[in-house]
Amino acid sequence: MYLSIEHDGDGNGNVTVQNKEKTASSTWTIEESRYQGEPEQPDGDPTGEASVALVRQELIAPNLIELAFDRDVKYATNTETYQVTVDGKDVTEFTIPCYFDNILSIRLPESVGDPENASIQVKICNQYVRDEKDNYLADGKTCDVSWNPYYTKSYTSECGITIKGCDLVKDSILKYAADVTDIMASKHPEIAEALVAAGADIALYPAEQNIYYIPEEREFYSPDAFGVEDFGGTVELPTTALAANVERDREHAMYPDTNVMAHEFGHAFHLIGIKTADPALFDEIDATYEKVVLQEGKWANSYAGSNRDEYFGQLAALWFNGQAETQTWNGVLGPVNTRDELKEYDPESYALLEKIFPADKYFASPWAKEDTIDNFDINGNPRN
Ligand SMILES: [Zn+2]
Repeated sequence: MYLSIEHDGDGNGNVTVQNKEKTASSTWTIEESRYQGEPEQPDGDPTGEASVALVRQELIAPNLIELAFDRDVKYATNTETYQVTVDGKDVTEFTIPCYFDNILSIRLPESVGDPENASIQVKICNQYVRDEKDNYLADGKTCDVSWNPYYTKSYTSECGITIKGCDLVKDSILKYAADVTDIMASKHPEIAEALVAAGADIALYPAEQNIYYIPEEREFYSPDAFGVEDFGGTVELPTTALAANVERDREHAMYPDTNVMAHEFGHAFHLIGIKTADPALFDEIDATYEKVVLQEGKWANSYAGSNRDEYFGQLAALWFNGQAETQTWNGVLGPVNTRDELKEYDPESYALLEKIFPADKYFASPWAKEDTIDNFDINGNPRN
């Protein structure tokens, strides 16, 4: 079991945590920092040498500086260690949202207006940054910070949603994700418009990274939530972030046979688009959830039954036959995993979803209707 954490559906800055079953080997390649959570400041002078080095210092988003050390270090998150200047002015209100994988994030209080031409420096002010042998990063050094944006490519769907990523994300994945947004929004262009107006977009990260590489997500880092793969967009943080695994990958996916994008963009669709563009429909989702889940006890012992937002996220994926199947309800999933089975098992939720998403469309291969894996009927009886 591992933790899954998502932006709070109520957009109040809290996060909800759910246990999910880990059903496949993950793509995880990055070790959690050993030093996260230690005191921010060492006691006493270092006993080692000044051998710790900075290998990279870059502005990777208009308000995010990234420093990369040549090794895993401790005590790197103390704001007293760094003095930041932008175009000759001291920036005093910066924060340090996280350190992991040898990289430190420094969040500036304001975006740099002309990042390409700005003059940005970081000065190291003490000898707090140390490795496990108490070797340290020398103080007194001033480093020039260069503009090297994390996002290097993007693709905007017909309905206006931008999908963005770094060089390691394949163009074909951006295009596929854009097509998914177009299909999901095809019945309600006004909901897509509300999403675009709210700044909603989608960030994809490659298998070599984790979700906290996404600049917008750095503040959500915590060692306990290191295994989280995806965040749905909310009004407060309208970027939906997910692994660039929107194509069906049965070998390496953390959620095999699950269309994570339909779930996560489903959250944004619900909590930004529907909420803004169609409050009556938003209330109808609440009412249906209360009736079928809380009163009638449908979706018991599943992620869809855990709360209103996951009910919608799970059913959004299920509508496009994007849910994995298990023979019994196991706390996360169950035998109801297709649009047709939704109609049979929970006709009221089907009627609700039919108002929102197209009933005549599925995604392209490998998520086409004929790709669906459905070995069990809604009661868990084998189909063959
Ligand atoms: Zn969710």
